[in-house]
Amino acid sequence: MNYQSTRNNEILVTSSEAILQGLSKEGGLFVPTELPKLSESFFKDIIEKEYIERAVSVLSLFLTDFPQDTLNECVTKAYSGGKFENGEVTPIAHLLDGRYLLELWHGPTCAFKDMALQLLPHLLKASSAIQKNQKEIVILTATSGDTGKAALEGFMDVSQTKIIVFYPLDGVSPMQKRQMTTQKGDNVHICAINGNFDDAQTAVKSIFTDDRLKETLENAGFCFSSANSINWGRLVPQIVYYISAYADLVANEEIKFGDKVNICVPTGNFGNILAAYYAKKMGVPFGKLICASNENNVLTDFIKTGVYDKNREFYTTTSPSMDILVSSNLERLLYDLSGSDDKAVSGWLADLNSTGRYEVSDKVKAGLLEHFACGCCNSEQVANTIKNEFDEYSYLLDTHTAVAVAVYNEYKKKSGDDKKVIIASTASPYKFTSSVLCALKKPDSTDEFEQISELSALSGTDVPQPLLELSKATVRFKGVIEKKDIANEVLKVLKL
Ligand SMILES: *Cc1c(COP(=O)(O)O)cnc(C)c1O
Repeated sequence: MNYQSTRNNEILVTSSEAILQGLSKEGGLFVPTELPKLSESFFKDIIEKEYIERAVSVLSLFLTDFPQDTLNECVTKAYSGGKFENGEVTPIAHLLDGRYLLELWHGPTCAFKDMALQLLPHLLKASSAIQKNQKEIVILTATSGDTGKAALEGFMDVSQTKIIVFYPLDGVSPMQKRQMTTQKGDNVHICAINGNFDDAQTAVKSIFTDDRLKETLENAGFCFSSANSINWGRLVPQIVYYISAYADLVANEEIKFGDKVNICVPTGNFGNILAAYYAKKMGVPFGKLICASNENNVLTDFIKTGVYDKNREFYTTTSPSMDILVSSNLERLLYDLSGSDDKAVSGWLADLNSTGRYEVSDKVKAGLLEHFACGCCNSEQVANTIKNEFDEYSYLLDTHTAVAVAVYNEYKKKSGDDKKVIIASTASPYKFTSSVLCALKKPDSTDEFEQISELSALSGTDVPQPLLELSKATVRFKGVIEKKDIANEVLKVLKL
């Protein structure tokens, strides 16, 4: 199978080229030229299998220039060896009323980013081998929290790669900072930048466009890449768990094969819900894809009206990983719904760049309404939802998953659509302990680790081991730099 760019579909590359390049050179994103269709026998076959085998079956439909053994090895390294709690990669919890929570946070960093970032380093290394790339890959990442840690944990000690993460000194939670600065591994480096997330992001972007620096690196045998969700290698592992979740519901006799199931996803950059859309187009019997947003509800307005307008206030919420006004993966959806119209997509993205706004065609509007539903809620509704669901079902939601549950409950009430639903559960409640605990009661302590113990005692749930270990972990990275010094920092880390 080949991949084409959303902004110029004459550009065709193989899957390993798409993953190694990350972004197409004119700025477009790589998408498959056509989606594989899943037959009933494919389903019958994977229902019998474990997650790792299911992943290999699905990925081999997309990554057609990867040898089968290589794919097996990549997937096994990513999801086995005790990396996922209790060896179960994506367990499903049933909240009654036909609501199933697909728990995607049992990996090493306790958020759903692990599902893709445990696999991406191996896919990247394999792509590099297939492409006969001799250079060592240097991953540069600016992070506001979850992505940086998940990327560090994924790339840790993966040979022929180095990873450098920059985080804003003022822009991450104490827990997230601790997760990063105590990171283990010989090929990792973490450094704070004086400023906020935009300062860190701008500084990192300036490196990607610094031709002199790039040349210095190439001559020394390095090449840059990104662990950002624009890379197809981060998206394709996410399609797997939607197919697998449907198979699990059939295997557990919660549904019969062919029954339609709705999907609800707490959304930021539109990567997770896009994977559900692709699974639906491949033939998984999904009904509505419900896009849940917090106060930053640019997507709610877009799905309803077909107008994307980022000229609005930015809110800092209790679900920070969804605080985003430009959802980069939406470009892939526009491309698909417009019937692969690269000119139209380029035009809309150019409008976004110049005016912060675009309006899609009637054809795309119709597609949005056919496949999607949407809704948003504020931090108070999130807190109420955490409390209600805990009181009612003794189930503890994190703040992001609570956005999805609140939006879904409202959707069901308004639409009367009572099909069963899979709700993507994207983080452990312990990753956002303070907000979750405050939703239930007034905390006894302001110390985060004491709050963790309090939440555990109150809810009767176990604290994930990786977060528990943090209180004793040694801080390895204390550096803080000014953003103008970022290129020097990279050279220093690479000993150039
Ligand atoms: C990244 C993230 C999201 C948003 O996912 P997108 O793929 O960016 O839409 C939601 N919840 C959590 C906990 C996240 O880390």
